Amino acid sequence: MATGKIIIVSAPSGTGKSTIIKRIIGDSDLNLSFSVSATSRSPRTGETDGVDYHFLTEEEFREGISRGDFVEYEEVYPGRLYGTLKSEVSRVVDSGRNLILDIDVCGGLNVKRLYPNALALFIMPPSVATLRTRLEQRNTDTKEAIDGRVAKAEYEMTFADSYDCRVVNDDLEKAVEQTRALIKEYISR
Ligand code: 5GP
Repeated sequence: MATGKIIIVSAPSGTGKSTIIKRIIGDSDLNLSFSVSATSRSPRTGETDGVDYHFLTEEEFREGISRGDFVEYEEVYPGRLYGTLKSEVSRVVDSGRNLILDIDVCGGLNVKRLYPNALALFIMPPSVATLRTRLEQRNTDTKEAIDGRVAKAEYEMTFADSYDCRVVNDDLEKAVEQTRALIKEYISR
């Protein structure tokens, strides 16, 4: 059986990356399986251990680092660790399915370095101003938190050119379609 391929999806927060992944994950012709990362953050309402993330304590996470369990890991937010498990990559890829990773920009580029044949996709907001408006409309963050997220997004967008392809999420339907087409073309190579 042929081994599966690796698709990395990164984006500044608030760009709609998770929504796009959820829309395409079930497409039978893409044969995708989601890479369930480990994290030391607490589960949010509606999240299931082993499905959305492997929820670990910080101590368990650090033990995993020492054992060499991770392909990559990052402290994406202060005190909150996220990492891609080697076991997750082999479980999916060895089964012949294509692995899709929803990971931050630094992690994404690390995975691309380790697996140069992977497809690295970067989802972009139409502009920084639009991203700010979206975050404001979400009404979940303080002004300071929004300023912080926007500054982080501006920084992350400086890495967009290091990715193989960029998709601008101006219109969600078009962004989903474009992402689907890029992955389809990549897996058919
Ligand atoms: P959230 O806490 O909102 O689920 O995720 C926060 C950020 O962590 C997102 O940008 C997400 O892509 C990133 N992330 C999730 N899993 C991993 C991982 O395994 N490694 C890295 N480097 N980032 C991750």
